[in-house]
Amino acid sequence: MLSPEILAKYQPVIGLEVHVQLLTESKAFCGCINQYGGEPNTHVCPTCLGLPGALPVLNRKAVEFAVLAAKAINCEIRETSIFSRKNYFYPDSPKGYQISQFDKPIAEHGWIEVPAFDAAGAAITKRVGVTRLHMEEDAGKSVHDGFADSVSKTYIDLNRCGTPLVEIVSEPDLRTADEVFEYLTKLKEILLYTGVSDCNMEEGSLRCDANVSVMLKGAKQFGTKAEVKNVNSFRYIRAAVEYEIERQIGVIEEGGRVVQESRLWNNAEGRTYSMRSKEQAHDYRYFPEPDLPPLVVGAEWQAEILKEMPELPEARRARMIAEYEISAQDAATLTATRAFADKFETAAKKAKSPKRVAALLTSELTMRLRLAGLELEQSPVSMDGVVMAADLAESGELSSKMLKQLLDISFEKNEDFPVVYEREKPQQISDAGAIEKMIDEVIAGNPKQVEQYRCGKKTVAAFFVGQVMRLSKGQANPALLNELVVKKLDS
Ligand code: ADP
Ligand code: ZN
Ligand code: MG
Repeated sequence: MLSPEILAKYQPVIGLEVHVQLLTESKAFCGCINQYGGEPNTHVCPTCLGLPGALPVLNRKAVEFAVLAAKAINCEIRETSIFSRKNYFYPDSPKGYQISQFDKPIAEHGWIEVPAFDAAGAAITKRVGVTRLHMEEDAGKSVHDGFADSVSKTYIDLNRCGTPLVEIVSEPDLRTADEVFEYLTKLKEILLYTGVSDCNMEEGSLRCDANVSVMLKGAKQFGTKAEVKNVNSFRYIRAAVEYEIERQIGVIEEGGRVVQESRLWNNAEGRTYSMRSKEQAHDYRYFPEPDLPPLVVGAEWQAEILKEMPELPEARRARMIAEYEISAQDAATLTATRAFADKFETAAKKAKSPKRVAALLTSELTMRLRLAGLELEQSPVSMDGVVMAADLAESGELSSKMLKQLLDISFEKNEDFPVVYEREKPQQISDAGAIEKMIDEVIAGNPKQVEQYRCGKKTVAAFFVGQVMRLSKGQANPALLNELVVKKLDS
Protein backbone atom coordinates (compact mmCIF):
# COMPACT_ATOMS: atom_id res chain seq x y z
CA MET A 1 0.00 0.00 0.00
CA LEU A 2 1.33 3.41 -1.00
CA SER A 3 0.76 6.45 1.17
CA PRO A 4 -1.83 9.04 0.12
CA GLU A 5 1.00 11.58 -0.23
CA ILE A 6 2.75 9.45 -2.82
CA LEU A 7 -0.46 8.63 -4.70
CA ALA A 8 -1.29 12.34 -4.78
CA LYS A 9 1.90 13.11 -6.72
CA TYR A 10 0.61 11.19 -9.73
CA GLN A 11 -2.05 11.68 -12.35
CA PRO A 12 -3.61 8.48 -13.70
CA VAL A 13 -4.78 8.46 -17.32
CA ILE A 14 -7.19 5.84 -18.65
CA GLY A 15 -8.68 5.06 -22.04
CA LEU A 16 -11.14 2.22 -22.70
CA GLU A 17 -11.71 -0.13 -25.59
CA VAL A 18 -15.16 -1.71 -25.38
CA HIS A 19 -16.32 -4.57 -27.59
CA VAL A 20 -20.06 -4.95 -28.00
CA GLN A 21 -21.83 -7.85 -29.69
CA LEU A 22 -24.74 -6.78 -31.84
CA LEU A 23 -28.18 -8.38 -31.50
CA THR A 24 -28.60 -9.27 -35.16
CA GLU A 25 -30.34 -12.51 -36.04
CA SER A 26 -27.51 -13.74 -38.22
CA LYS A 27 -23.75 -13.29 -38.13
CA ALA A 28 -21.78 -10.38 -39.64
CA PHE A 29 -20.74 -11.96 -42.93
CA CYS A 30 -22.76 -15.20 -43.31
CA GLY A 31 -26.27 -16.51 -42.69
CA CYS A 32 -25.44 -18.52 -39.55
CA ILE A 33 -27.57 -17.85 -36.50
CA ASN A 34 -26.09 -15.30 -34.11
CA GLN A 35 -26.88 -16.83 -30.75
CA TYR A 36 -24.99 -17.33 -27.53
CA GLY A 37 -24.11 -20.91 -26.58
CA GLY A 38 -25.41 -23.91 -28.50
CA GLU A 39 -23.78 -27.29 -29.10
CA PRO A 40 -20.14 -26.44 -29.94
CA ASN A 41 -19.38 -25.97 -33.65
CA THR A 42 -22.97 -26.18 -34.83
CA HIS A 43 -23.60 -22.49 -35.70
CA VAL A 44 -21.01 -22.56 -38.47
CA CYS A 45 -20.68 -22.57 -42.24
CA PRO A 46 -17.82 -22.41 -44.78
CA THR A 47 -17.65 -18.60 -44.49
CA CYS A 48 -17.32 -18.27 -40.73
CA LEU A 49 -15.07 -21.34 -40.66
CA GLY A 50 -12.80 -19.56 -43.10
CA LEU A 51 -12.80 -22.36 -45.66
CA PRO A 52 -11.03 -21.55 -48.92
CA GLY A 53 -13.24 -19.92 -51.52
CA ALA A 54 -16.06 -18.91 -49.16
CA LEU A 55 -16.92 -15.23 -49.47
CA PRO A 56 -18.25 -12.79 -46.86
CA VAL A 57 -21.44 -10.79 -47.42
CA LEU A 58 -22.02 -7.90 -45.03
CA ASN A 59 -25.11 -8.06 -42.80
CA ARG A 60 -27.22 -4.95 -43.42
CA LYS A 61 -28.71 -5.02 -39.91
CA ALA A 62 -25.23 -4.99 -38.36
CA VAL A 63 -24.49 -1.76 -40.22
CA GLU A 64 -27.75 -0.25 -39.05
CA PHE A 65 -27.02 -1.17 -35.43
CA ALA A 66 -23.49 0.22 -35.70
CA VAL A 67 -24.83 3.52 -37.04
CA LEU A 68 -27.50 3.68 -34.34
CA ALA A 69 -24.96 3.00 -31.58
CA ALA A 70 -22.53 5.52 -33.07
CA LYS A 71 -25.11 8.30 -33.29
CA ALA A 72 -26.31 7.58 -29.76
CA ILE A 73 -22.79 8.39 -28.53
CA ASN A 74 -22.58 11.50 -30.68
CA CYS A 75 -20.24 10.17 -33.37
CA GLU A 76 -20.03 11.39 -36.94
CA ILE A 77 -20.74 8.72 -39.53
CA ARG A 78 -18.22 8.30 -42.31
CA GLU A 79 -20.10 7.97 -45.57
CA THR A 80 -17.59 5.52 -47.06
CA SER A 81 -15.80 3.22 -44.67
CA ILE A 82 -13.43 0.38 -45.41
CA PHE A 83 -13.11 -3.12 -44.00
CA SER A 84 -9.57 -4.33 -43.37
CA ARG A 85 -7.92 -7.59 -42.53
CA LYS A 86 -6.19 -7.72 -39.16
CA ASN A 87 -3.82 -10.64 -39.48
CA TYR A 88 -2.85 -12.80 -36.56
CA PHE A 89 -2.69 -16.46 -35.75
CA TYR A 90 -4.83 -17.86 -33.00
CA PRO A 91 -6.45 -21.31 -32.84
CA ASP A 92 -9.97 -19.90 -32.39
CA SER A 93 -9.67 -17.72 -35.50
CA PRO A 94 -9.54 -20.18 -38.39
CA LYS A 95 -9.18 -17.61 -41.18
CA GLY A 96 -5.90 -16.37 -39.74
CA TYR A 97 -7.26 -12.84 -39.78
CA GLN A 98 -10.14 -10.84 -38.39
CA ILE A 99 -12.27 -8.63 -40.61
CA SER A 100 -12.18 -5.25 -38.90
CA GLN A 101 -11.93 -1.58 -39.78
CA PHE A 102 -8.66 0.28 -39.54
CA ASP A 103 -7.95 3.74 -40.95
CA LYS A 104 -11.47 4.42 -42.22
CA PRO A 105 -13.87 3.30 -39.48
CA ILE A 106 -17.60 3.81 -39.84
CA ALA A 107 -17.77 6.42 -37.06
CA GLU A 108 -15.53 8.87 -35.19
CA HIS A 109 -15.42 11.93 -32.93
CA GLY A 110 -18.13 11.14 -30.42
CA TRP A 111 -18.55 11.72 -26.70
CA ILE A 112 -20.35 10.45 -23.64
CA GLU A 113 -21.28 12.59 -20.65
CA VAL A 114 -20.53 11.05 -17.26
CA PRO A 115 -20.96 12.24 -13.69
CA ALA A 116 -17.60 13.12 -12.13
CA PHE A 117 -15.94 15.42 -9.61
CA ASP A 118 -13.70 18.40 -10.30
CA ALA A 119 -10.40 19.05 -8.49
CA ALA A 120 -12.24 20.85 -5.70
CA GLY A 121 -14.55 17.88 -5.19
CA ALA A 122 -17.66 19.46 -6.71
CA ALA A 123 -20.00 17.24 -8.74
CA ILE A 124 -19.71 17.94 -12.46
CA THR A 125 -20.73 16.41 -15.77
CA LYS A 126 -17.65 15.41 -17.70
CA ARG A 127 -17.56 14.89 -21.45
CA VAL A 128 -15.41 11.87 -22.33
CA GLY A 129 -14.28 11.73 -25.95
CA VAL A 130 -15.00 8.71 -28.13
CA THR A 131 -12.22 8.40 -30.67
CA ARG A 132 -14.00 5.94 -32.92
CA LEU A 133 -16.55 3.22 -33.28
CA HIS A 134 -15.71 0.58 -35.82
CA MET A 135 -17.25 -2.67 -37.02
CA GLU A 136 -15.58 -6.04 -36.80
CA GLU A 137 -16.25 -9.73 -36.23
CA ASP A 138 -15.77 -11.81 -33.11
CA ALA A 139 -13.45 -14.81 -32.92
CA GLY A 140 -14.37 -18.29 -31.64
CA LYS A 141 -13.73 -19.48 -28.12
CA SER A 142 -10.95 -21.56 -26.64
CA VAL A 143 -12.23 -23.63 -23.75
CA HIS A 144 -9.46 -24.77 -21.42
CA ASP A 145 -9.52 -27.87 -19.28
CA GLY A 146 -7.66 -26.88 -16.14
CA PHE A 147 -6.15 -23.48 -15.41
CA ALA A 148 -2.89 -21.63 -16.14
CA ASP A 149 0.06 -24.04 -15.87
CA SER A 150 -2.13 -27.10 -15.49
CA VAL A 151 -4.19 -26.81 -18.70
CA SER A 152 -4.42 -30.35 -19.99
CA LYS A 153 -6.66 -29.89 -23.01
CA THR A 154 -7.99 -26.93 -24.96
CA TYR A 155 -11.20 -27.23 -26.96
CA ILE A 156 -12.15 -24.93 -29.80
CA ASP A 157 -15.76 -23.78 -30.24
CA LEU A 158 -16.29 -21.73 -33.39
CA ASN A 159 -19.96 -20.84 -32.82
CA ARG A 160 -18.96 -17.29 -31.92
CA CYS A 161 -16.84 -16.81 -35.05
CA GLY A 162 -18.23 -14.00 -37.15
CA THR A 163 -20.55 -12.54 -34.50
CA PRO A 164 -20.94 -8.85 -35.38
CA LEU A 165 -19.17 -6.46 -33.03
CA VAL A 166 -18.63 -2.79 -32.66
CA GLU A 167 -15.50 -1.63 -30.88
CA ILE A 168 -15.85 1.69 -29.10
CA VAL A 169 -12.53 3.37 -28.32
CA SER A 170 -12.42 6.25 -25.86
CA GLU A 171 -9.94 9.08 -25.76
CA PRO A 172 -7.51 8.92 -22.82
CA ASP A 173 -9.84 11.32 -20.98
CA LEU A 174 -10.61 9.27 -17.88
CA ARG A 175 -8.71 10.09 -14.71
CA THR A 176 -10.01 7.82 -11.96
CA ALA A 177 -11.33 4.28 -11.55
CA ASP A 178 -14.69 5.80 -10.58
CA GLU A 179 -14.86 7.71 -13.85
CA VAL A 180 -14.17 4.43 -15.65
CA PHE A 181 -17.11 2.86 -13.82
CA GLU A 182 -19.41 5.78 -14.62
CA TYR A 183 -18.38 5.84 -18.28
CA LEU A 184 -19.12 2.14 -18.67
CA THR A 185 -22.42 2.49 -16.84
CA LYS A 186 -23.53 5.32 -19.14
CA LEU A 187 -22.32 3.54 -22.26
CA LYS A 188 -24.18 0.38 -21.34
CA GLU A 189 -27.35 2.31 -20.51
CA ILE A 190 -27.28 4.08 -23.88
CA LEU A 191 -26.60 0.87 -25.80
CA LEU A 192 -29.43 -0.92 -24.01
CA TYR A 193 -31.82 1.91 -24.87
CA THR A 194 -30.88 1.72 -28.55
CA GLY A 195 -31.50 -2.03 -28.43
CA VAL A 196 -28.37 -2.88 -30.45
CA SER A 197 -26.98 -5.22 -27.78
CA ASP A 198 -28.07 -7.00 -24.63
CA CYS A 199 -24.74 -5.94 -23.05
CA ASN A 200 -24.70 -9.16 -21.04
CA MET A 201 -21.23 -9.28 -19.54
CA GLU A 202 -21.46 -12.85 -18.27
CA GLU A 203 -22.10 -14.02 -21.81
CA GLY A 204 -19.42 -11.72 -23.19
CA SER A 205 -21.77 -9.43 -25.12
CA LEU A 206 -19.91 -6.47 -23.64
CA ARG A 207 -16.17 -6.72 -22.98
CA CYS A 208 -13.78 -4.05 -21.88
CA ASP A 209 -10.03 -3.53 -22.07
CA ALA A 210 -8.66 -0.72 -19.91
CA ASN A 211 -5.50 1.18 -20.89
CA VAL A 212 -3.89 2.67 -17.83
CA SER A 213 -0.89 4.94 -17.36
CA VAL A 214 0.33 7.33 -14.70
CA MET A 215 2.41 10.49 -14.87
CA LEU A 216 3.65 13.04 -12.38
CA LYS A 217 1.01 15.75 -11.92
CA GLY A 218 1.72 18.63 -14.25
CA ALA A 219 3.78 16.48 -16.65
CA LYS A 220 3.44 17.36 -20.32
CA GLN A 221 3.44 13.81 -21.61
CA PHE A 222 1.42 10.77 -20.72
CA GLY A 223 3.24 7.83 -19.18
CA THR A 224 3.63 4.41 -20.78
CA LYS A 225 0.36 2.49 -20.69
CA ALA A 226 -0.43 -1.07 -19.77
CA GLU A 227 -3.61 -2.70 -21.02
CA VAL A 228 -5.78 -4.73 -18.65
CA LYS A 229 -7.76 -7.20 -20.72
CA ASN A 230 -11.16 -8.78 -20.56
CA VAL A 231 -12.46 -8.18 -17.06
CA ASN A 232 -16.06 -9.33 -16.85
CA SER A 233 -17.85 -6.86 -14.59
CA PHE A 234 -17.77 -3.11 -14.14
CA ARG A 235 -16.93 -3.49 -10.47
CA TYR A 236 -13.96 -5.68 -11.26
CA ILE A 237 -12.80 -3.26 -13.94
CA ARG A 238 -12.88 -0.50 -11.35
CA ALA A 239 -10.87 -2.69 -8.98
CA ALA A 240 -8.43 -3.69 -11.74
CA VAL A 241 -7.86 -0.05 -12.73
CA GLU A 242 -7.36 0.95 -9.11
CA TYR A 243 -4.86 -1.86 -8.67
CA GLU A 244 -3.04 -1.03 -11.87
CA ILE A 245 -2.68 2.66 -10.96
CA GLU A 246 -1.08 1.76 -7.65
CA ARG A 247 1.12 -0.89 -9.21
CA GLN A 248 2.49 1.54 -11.78
CA ILE A 249 3.10 4.28 -9.21
CA GLY A 250 4.91 1.68 -7.09
CA VAL A 251 7.14 0.70 -10.02
CA ILE A 252 8.08 4.33 -10.71
CA GLU A 253 8.62 5.16 -7.03
CA GLU A 254 11.08 2.29 -6.84
CA GLY A 255 13.03 3.78 -9.70
CA GLY A 256 11.68 1.38 -12.33
CA ARG A 257 9.83 1.97 -15.59
CA VAL A 258 6.37 0.86 -16.61
CA VAL A 259 6.54 -1.45 -19.60
CA GLN A 260 3.96 -1.41 -22.37
CA GLU A 261 2.21 -4.74 -22.10
CA SER A 262 -1.09 -6.55 -21.77
CA ARG A 263 -2.07 -7.69 -18.31
CA LEU A 264 -4.72 -10.05 -17.02
CA TRP A 265 -6.88 -9.40 -13.97
CA ASN A 266 -7.02 -12.21 -11.46
CA ASN A 267 -10.17 -11.66 -9.48
CA ALA A 268 -9.46 -14.19 -6.73
CA GLU A 269 -6.15 -12.51 -5.92
CA GLY A 270 -7.29 -8.97 -6.69
CA ARG A 271 -4.27 -8.19 -8.87
CA THR A 272 -3.13 -8.02 -12.49
CA TYR A 273 -0.54 -10.29 -14.09
CA SER A 274 1.65 -9.71 -17.09
CA MET A 275 0.69 -11.82 -20.09
CA ARG A 276 3.66 -13.19 -21.97
CA SER A 277 5.44 -10.32 -23.68
CA LYS A 278 5.69 -12.17 -27.03
CA GLU A 279 2.00 -11.54 -27.47
CA GLN A 280 2.50 -7.79 -27.43
CA ALA A 281 4.81 -7.44 -30.37
CA HIS A 282 1.81 -6.96 -32.66
CA ASP A 283 2.15 -6.32 -36.28
CA TYR A 284 -1.22 -7.02 -37.74
CA ARG A 285 -0.30 -6.13 -41.31
CA TYR A 286 -3.63 -4.47 -41.88
CA PHE A 287 -4.72 -4.24 -45.49
CA PRO A 288 -8.07 -3.52 -47.14
CA GLU A 289 -10.31 -6.59 -47.21
CA PRO A 290 -10.33 -7.63 -50.90
CA ASP A 291 -13.56 -9.64 -50.56
CA LEU A 292 -15.73 -6.72 -49.39
CA PRO A 293 -16.48 -3.49 -51.25
CA PRO A 294 -16.27 -0.16 -49.42
CA LEU A 295 -19.28 0.32 -47.16
CA VAL A 296 -21.35 3.32 -48.20
CA VAL A 297 -23.89 4.71 -45.76
CA GLY A 298 -25.38 7.68 -47.57
CA ALA A 299 -27.53 10.44 -46.09
CA GLU A 300 -30.74 8.72 -47.09
CA TRP A 301 -29.89 5.41 -45.43
CA GLN A 302 -28.63 7.25 -42.37
CA ALA A 303 -31.91 9.12 -42.08
CA GLU A 304 -33.80 5.84 -42.44
CA ILE A 305 -31.72 4.26 -39.64
CA LEU A 306 -32.16 7.25 -37.35
CA LYS A 307 -35.92 6.80 -37.41
CA GLU A 308 -35.23 3.91 -35.04
CA MET A 309 -33.38 6.12 -32.56
CA PRO A 310 -35.28 6.13 -29.28
CA GLU A 311 -35.28 9.01 -26.86
CA LEU A 312 -32.03 8.44 -24.93
CA PRO A 313 -31.92 8.09 -21.15
CA GLU A 314 -30.57 11.56 -20.26
CA ALA A 315 -33.07 13.35 -22.49
CA ARG A 316 -35.88 11.16 -21.29
CA ARG A 317 -35.06 11.90 -17.66
CA ALA A 318 -35.07 15.63 -18.27
CA ARG A 319 -38.38 15.49 -20.14
CA MET A 320 -40.05 13.30 -17.52
CA ILE A 321 -39.00 15.60 -14.69
CA ALA A 322 -40.57 18.54 -16.52
CA GLU A 323 -43.64 16.75 -17.84
CA TYR A 324 -44.70 14.85 -14.74
CA GLU A 325 -43.17 17.10 -12.07
CA ILE A 326 -41.31 14.18 -10.54
CA SER A 327 -38.03 14.37 -8.66
CA ALA A 328 -34.68 13.77 -10.34
CA GLN A 329 -34.22 10.71 -8.18
CA ASP A 330 -37.59 9.21 -9.16
CA ALA A 331 -36.84 9.99 -12.80
CA ALA A 332 -33.51 8.18 -12.50
CA THR A 333 -35.19 5.11 -11.02
CA LEU A 334 -37.99 5.10 -13.58
CA THR A 335 -35.61 5.37 -16.54
CA ALA A 336 -33.25 2.65 -15.32
CA THR A 337 -34.48 0.62 -18.27
CA ARG A 338 -36.41 1.64 -21.31
CA ALA A 339 -39.09 -0.93 -20.49
CA PHE A 340 -39.63 0.50 -17.01
CA ALA A 341 -39.83 4.04 -18.36
CA ASP A 342 -42.33 2.94 -21.02
CA LYS A 343 -44.48 1.26 -18.40
CA PHE A 344 -44.41 4.30 -16.17
CA GLU A 345 -45.36 6.67 -18.96
CA THR A 346 -48.25 4.52 -20.14
CA ALA A 347 -49.55 4.40 -16.57
CA ALA A 348 -48.89 8.09 -15.95
CA LYS A 349 -51.03 9.04 -18.94
CA LYS A 350 -54.01 7.10 -17.57
CA ALA A 351 -53.70 8.26 -13.96
CA LYS A 352 -55.05 11.33 -12.20
CA SER A 353 -51.61 12.15 -10.81
CA PRO A 354 -48.44 10.97 -12.60
CA LYS A 355 -46.49 12.12 -9.58
CA ARG A 356 -48.36 9.69 -7.40
CA VAL A 357 -47.82 6.85 -9.88
CA ALA A 358 -44.09 7.65 -9.83
CA ALA A 359 -44.02 7.64 -6.03
CA LEU A 360 -45.94 4.37 -5.85
CA LEU A 361 -43.69 2.67 -8.38
CA THR A 362 -40.37 3.88 -7.01
CA SER A 363 -41.19 3.26 -3.36
CA GLU A 364 -44.02 0.92 -2.37
CA LEU A 365 -43.92 -1.32 -5.44
CA THR A 366 -40.15 -1.43 -5.93
CA MET A 367 -39.65 -2.22 -2.26
CA ARG A 368 -42.12 -5.11 -2.33
CA LEU A 369 -40.67 -6.49 -5.56
CA ARG A 370 -37.20 -6.42 -4.06
CA LEU A 371 -38.34 -8.18 -0.90
CA ALA A 372 -40.10 -10.84 -2.94
CA GLY A 373 -37.13 -11.16 -5.30
CA LEU A 374 -39.33 -10.39 -8.32
CA GLU A 375 -38.79 -8.44 -11.52
CA LEU A 376 -41.31 -5.80 -12.52
CA GLU A 377 -42.60 -8.17 -15.22
CA GLN A 378 -43.47 -10.67 -12.47
CA SER A 379 -45.27 -8.19 -10.24
CA PRO A 380 -48.64 -9.45 -8.95
CA VAL A 381 -49.81 -5.84 -9.23
CA SER A 382 -50.31 -4.96 -12.90
CA MET A 383 -49.70 -1.46 -14.20
CA ASP A 384 -53.47 -0.95 -14.37
CA GLY A 385 -53.53 -2.00 -10.74
CA VAL A 386 -50.92 0.63 -9.99
CA VAL A 387 -52.99 3.29 -11.74
CA MET A 388 -56.08 2.28 -9.78
CA ALA A 389 -54.19 2.35 -6.48
CA ALA A 390 -52.65 5.72 -7.30
CA ASP A 391 -56.02 7.21 -8.24
CA LEU A 392 -57.66 5.94 -5.06
CA ALA A 393 -54.85 7.41 -3.01
CA GLU A 394 -55.05 10.67 -4.93
CA SER A 395 -58.79 11.09 -4.38
CA GLY A 396 -58.34 10.29 -0.72
CA GLU A 397 -60.48 7.16 -0.96
CA LEU A 398 -57.53 5.15 0.31
CA SER A 399 -55.37 6.29 3.16
CA SER A 400 -51.68 5.58 2.71
CA LYS A 401 -51.89 3.05 5.51
CA MET A 402 -54.78 1.23 3.83
CA LEU A 403 -52.99 1.35 0.50
CA LYS A 404 -49.95 -0.34 1.99
CA GLN A 405 -52.11 -3.02 3.57
CA LEU A 406 -53.84 -3.79 0.28
CA LEU A 407 -50.51 -3.96 -1.56
CA ASP A 408 -49.24 -6.36 1.08
CA ILE A 409 -52.25 -8.59 0.46
CA SER A 410 -51.65 -8.42 -3.31
CA PHE A 411 -48.12 -9.70 -2.82
CA GLU A 412 -49.06 -12.29 -0.20
CA LYS A 413 -51.88 -13.80 -2.27
CA ASN A 414 -50.42 -13.05 -5.68
CA GLU A 415 -53.58 -11.19 -6.67
CA ASP A 416 -53.79 -8.02 -8.70
CA PHE A 417 -54.70 -4.84 -6.88
CA PRO A 418 -58.24 -4.40 -8.27
CA VAL A 419 -59.17 -7.89 -7.07
CA VAL A 420 -57.89 -7.20 -3.60
CA TYR A 421 -59.50 -3.78 -3.51
CA GLU A 422 -62.94 -5.06 -4.48
CA ARG A 423 -62.83 -7.62 -1.69
CA GLU A 424 -61.14 -5.60 1.03
CA LYS A 425 -62.16 -2.02 0.31
CA PRO A 426 -63.41 0.07 3.19
CA GLN A 427 -67.17 0.13 3.86
CA GLN A 428 -68.84 3.05 2.15
CA ILE A 429 -70.74 5.77 3.93
CA SER A 430 -73.65 6.77 1.73
CA ASP A 431 -75.59 8.64 4.38
CA ALA A 432 -75.85 12.24 3.13
CA GLY A 433 -76.34 13.60 6.60
CA ALA A 434 -73.15 12.03 7.94
CA ILE A 435 -71.14 13.25 4.96
CA GLU A 436 -72.54 16.78 5.24
CA LYS A 437 -71.50 16.90 8.88
CA MET A 438 -67.93 16.12 7.89
CA ILE A 439 -68.02 18.68 5.08
CA ASP A 440 -69.16 21.34 7.54
CA GLU A 441 -66.27 20.47 9.80
CA VAL A 442 -63.73 20.80 7.01
CA ILE A 443 -65.26 24.03 5.72
CA ALA A 444 -65.11 25.52 9.21
CA GLY A 445 -61.45 24.56 9.53
CA ASN A 446 -60.33 26.00 6.18
CA PRO A 447 -61.72 29.54 5.75
CA LYS A 448 -58.90 30.55 3.37
CA GLN A 449 -59.80 27.85 0.86
CA VAL A 450 -63.49 28.68 1.17
CA GLU A 451 -62.62 32.29 0.33
CA GLN A 452 -60.63 31.15 -2.73
CA TYR A 453 -63.53 29.06 -3.92
CA ARG A 454 -65.97 31.88 -3.55
CA CYS A 455 -63.62 34.19 -5.46
CA GLY A 456 -63.99 31.86 -8.42
CA LYS A 457 -61.24 29.26 -7.96
CA LYS A 458 -63.57 26.32 -8.43
CA THR A 459 -60.76 23.77 -8.46
CA VAL A 460 -60.43 24.20 -4.71
CA ALA A 461 -63.45 21.89 -4.42
CA ALA A 462 -61.08 18.96 -4.94
CA PHE A 463 -59.19 20.02 -1.84
CA PHE A 464 -62.36 19.75 0.25
CA VAL A 465 -63.26 16.40 -1.26
CA GLY A 466 -59.79 15.11 -0.35
CA GLN A 467 -59.98 16.44 3.19
CA VAL A 468 -63.40 14.92 3.83
CA MET A 469 -62.28 11.65 2.28
CA ARG A 470 -59.41 11.57 4.73
CA LEU A 471 -61.66 12.45 7.62
CA SER A 472 -63.97 9.56 6.66
CA LYS A 473 -60.96 7.24 6.39
CA GLY A 474 -61.77 6.76 2.75
CA GLN A 475 -65.28 5.58 3.46
CA ALA A 476 -67.34 8.45 2.05
CA ASN A 477 -69.19 7.56 -1.16
CA PRO A 478 -67.10 9.53 -3.68
CA ALA A 479 -69.90 10.50 -6.06
CA LEU A 480 -72.14 11.68 -3.27
CA LEU A 481 -69.25 13.48 -1.59
CA ASN A 482 -68.39 15.37 -4.77
CA GLU A 483 -71.95 16.46 -5.22
CA LEU A 484 -72.41 17.56 -1.61
CA VAL A 485 -69.14 19.50 -1.42
CA VAL A 486 -70.09 21.63 -4.42
CA LYS A 487 -73.58 22.15 -3.06
CA LYS A 488 -72.24 23.27 0.34
CA LEU A 489 -69.59 25.56 -1.12
CA ASP A 490 -72.07 27.16 -3.50
CA SER A 491 -74.65 27.77 -0.80
P1 ADP B 1 -2.40 1.45 -29.41
O1 ADP B 1 -1.76 2.07 -30.61
O2 ADP B 1 -1.47 0.88 -28.43
O3 ADP B 1 -3.54 0.56 -29.78
P2 ADP B 1 -4.12 3.71 -29.15
O4 ADP B 1 -3.53 5.07 -29.26
O5 ADP B 1 -4.83 3.18 -30.34
O6 ADP B 1 -3.04 2.69 -28.64
O7 ADP B 1 -5.13 3.74 -27.94
C1 ADP B 1 -5.78 2.62 -27.48
C2 ADP B 1 -6.50 3.03 -26.21
O8 ADP B 1 -5.56 3.41 -25.22
C3 ADP B 1 -7.43 4.22 -26.36
O9 ADP B 1 -8.59 4.00 -25.59
C4 ADP B 1 -6.63 5.37 -25.80
O10 ADP B 1 -7.47 6.36 -25.22
C5 ADP B 1 -5.82 4.71 -24.72
N1 ADP B 1 -4.54 5.34 -24.46
C6 ADP B 1 -3.62 5.77 -25.36
N2 ADP B 1 -2.54 6.26 -24.74
C7 ADP B 1 -2.77 6.13 -23.40
C8 ADP B 1 -2.00 6.44 -22.24
N3 ADP B 1 -0.79 6.95 -22.30
N4 ADP B 1 -2.56 6.15 -21.04
C9 ADP B 1 -3.77 5.60 -20.95
N5 ADP B 1 -4.53 5.29 -22.01
C10 ADP B 1 -4.04 5.55 -23.23
ZN1 ZN C 1 -21.40 -18.97 -40.87
MG1 MG D 1 -4.75 1.38 -31.57
